Amino acid sequence: MIPARYGASRFPGKLMQDLGGKPVIVRTYEAAKQTKLFDEVYVVTDSEIIFKEIEGSGGKAIMSKKEHDCGSDRIAEAVEDMDVDIVVNVQGDEPFTSKKGLEQVLGVFDGPDAKKIDLASLMTEIYDWKEISDPNCVKVIVDKENFALYFSRSPIPYPRDKNAAVQYYKHKGIYAFRKQALMDFYRLPMRTMEAAEKIECIRYLEYGKNIKMAVTDTQGIEIDTPEDLIRANKALKDDNKITINNKYRNFPMVPKVVFGAGCFDQLSSIIGPQRRDKAPFIFLVDDVFDEDMDLIHRINPRFNDKLIFVSSEEEPKTSQVDQIVKDIKAEFNYKPSGIIGIGGGTILDLAKAVAIMYSNKGSASDYQGWDLVKNKAVYHVGIPTISGTGAEVSRTTVLTGPEKKLGINSDYTPFDQVILDPDLTIGVPKNQWFYTGMDCFIHCVESLNGTFLNTFSESYGEKAYDLCKEIFLKDDLSEEESRAKLMMASWHGGMSIAYSQVGVAHAMSYGLSYVLGTKHGVGNCIVFDHLEEYYPEGVALFKEMKEKHNVEIPKNLCSNLSDFQFNTMIDIALSLEPLWENALGEDWREIMTREKLKELYQKM
Ligand code: NAD
Ligand code: ZN
Repeated sequence: MIPARYGASRFPGKLMQDLGGKPVIVRTYEAAKQTKLFDEVYVVTDSEIIFKEIEGSGGKAIMSKKEHDCGSDRIAEAVEDMDVDIVVNVQGDEPFTSKKGLEQVLGVFDGPDAKKIDLASLMTEIYDWKEISDPNCVKVIVDKENFALYFSRSPIPYPRDKNAAVQYYKHKGIYAFRKQALMDFYRLPMRTMEAAEKIECIRYLEYGKNIKMAVTDTQGIEIDTPEDLIRANKALKDDNKITINNKYRNFPMVPKVVFGAGCFDQLSSIIGPQRRDKAPFIFLVDDVFDEDMDLIHRINPRFNDKLIFVSSEEEPKTSQVDQIVKDIKAEFNYKPSGIIGIGGGTILDLAKAVAIMYSNKGSASDYQGWDLVKNKAVYHVGIPTISGTGAEVSRTTVLTGPEKKLGINSDYTPFDQVILDPDLTIGVPKNQWFYTGMDCFIHCVESLNGTFLNTFSESYGEKAYDLCKEIFLKDDLSEEESRAKLMMASWHGGMSIAYSQVGVAHAMSYGLSYVLGTKHGVGNCIVFDHLEEYYPEGVALFKEMKEKHNVEIPKNLCSNLSDFQFNTMIDIALSLEPLWENALGEDWREIMTREKLKELYQKM
C-alpha cells in the first residue's frame, strides 16, 4: 500500500512533480510493482488527481473515504475489508525504494521469532554527527534481537562517553504489518510520546507491540523538498548512464605509503594521529619476531596497546580471524584505534580481515567472495617483512574457510597506510625468499598473459616482471638494492592483479593448499614448474631462476592421494572461475576439464 496525500506541508503537490518524465507517485508505484514481491500494489489517496493519474497509467488506486492524520490510518481504512496477511507500507515519496529493502522487511516474517512480531521496519547505520543530531532524522535503538526499544528525534543513546563504540541507526519509513497490528493502530488513540515526537510508530511501542527492525544499506532518496527532486532527477539520469556503461570498475588504492630503508622507526609518529583516547592499537606480529627485542622496541607500544604474536605456520583461516576479533572485543571495551599487521602475506591478510570483521557482524566466512562486506573496516596498517605477495597493496585477504579458500575482496579491504621498509626483510631464509618472490613473478606472468589484461595492469605487471628478472637472474645488484627492488616488485605485481586476475597456477595452488595445507608461495612454485603448456616463456625463466639459486621444489605431493582428495582439490580449483576465465577465456570449461586437471596434479 502506498499512501499518497496530495498536500504535503513542506512541498505541496510533490507526488505529482515530474521525475524523469513521469510523476513521482507513478515512479514509486512502478518500482513497487517491479519488485514482484507483492500480490497486489495499491496507491491510497485523498486526491482525485493522483487517483486518475495512477488508474490512467494502468495501476490500481483507492480513494480514502475519511480524513486521516497519517499514512498508517489511510492504509488501515483501505485494507479493513481486504483478506490479507501482511501489509507493506511503501512511502509515496520514495521512488527509489529498492527491492532489497522490501525483501528484508518481509524476510523477518520468515525468521525464527516471526510469531512475536507485530510489525517490521527498516533502519540504516549512520555515522555523521550532523545527521545523528538532526531532528528531521528519526533515530531508533534496538535490543539484541533487533526489536525496537524507542524511536526519537533526539540522538539516542546520548553519547556521554565519546569513546564508547555505539552504532546509531536512522529509521526508514517502510513498514510491514500483520493486518491485526495495523487495525489496532487505527482504533487506538494517540498517546503523549507519539504526540510529542510526532513519530507514528511510537504508538505501537506505547501499546506494547513488537517492532522488529532489519538493517539495510540501501539509501534511496526521499523527496521532501524541491532540492531533493532536483537530486532525484539527476540520480535517475546517472543511473541510466551506469546501466549503459558499467564495464569499468572503480578501484580503491592504498591512500598512504612510506618507503625507505629504516622508515619503520617512524611507525609511532605515523599512526599517532589515529590514536583515540583509551582506544588501543592492536599489533598483529609474525611470531618469528617474538624474541626480537629490537623490533619490539621500535614498535614502541604505548598505554594499553597490545602486541599479539601470530604463527604463520599455517595459512590464515576464517575461524582464526573470528577468534582474534572475539578476543579483542572481550579484552577492550573500546573499538581499537587501529590494527597493525607486521609480517608476510599471512599476517597482512589476517590484519586486513580482523579490521574488517571488527565492524561487521557474523563470521569472516560470510564475507568470502566479491563485495560482500557492508561496513567500513577499522583503520588498518600493513608492514611487510618479506616481499612478493602484493598483499600489502591488494584489495583482497585470502582466507581458508570451512567450505572454501577464497579472499574477502572488497573496497574496505585495502590498508589505510602501508610502511615499506626493505630492511625488515633482512632475516628472511633463502628458500622462503625465493618462494615468496616467485609469487610476485607468477602474479605478473598470469596477469600479463590473461584475457583481462588492460594497459593499467600491463604497465604495473611489466615493471614488476622486469624487476624480478633483474633480482633473480642478474648478478649486479647489491643486497640492499635487491631488497628494495623486490619490495617494489611486490607492490607493482599486486597493483597489476588489482585490475586483472591471477590464473592457472593460483587456481591449482589453492587446491593444493586446501587439501594438503601447502603454503601459498611454495605451492605456486610446485604448480608453476609444470605449466609450460600455458605459460611457456614464464615457466622457462622460472626454471632458470630455480637453477641459479639452487632451490629445491618439493615433488610427489600428489602420488598417494585418494580419489576423494583429488576430487576436493579439483572442486576447489575449479570454483575459482574468474581465475580460469582470465587464464583461458570464456570457454575455459572446455579447455580445463576435470580429467585434464587431475592429469596435471598427478605430475606434482
Ligand atoms: P608468510 O607470511 O606465510 O611467511 C612465510 C615465512 O617467512 C614464515 O615462516 C614467516 O615467519 C617468515 N618470515 C616473514 N618475514 C620474515 C623475516 N623478516 N625474517 C625471517 N622470517 C620471516 O609468507 P608470504 O609468502 O609472504 O605469504 C603467504 C600468504 O600470503 C598466503 O596465505 C597467501 O594466501 C597470501 N597472499 C595474499 C595475497 C593478497 O593479495 N592478499 C596475495 C598473495 C598471497
Ligand atoms: Zn599469489
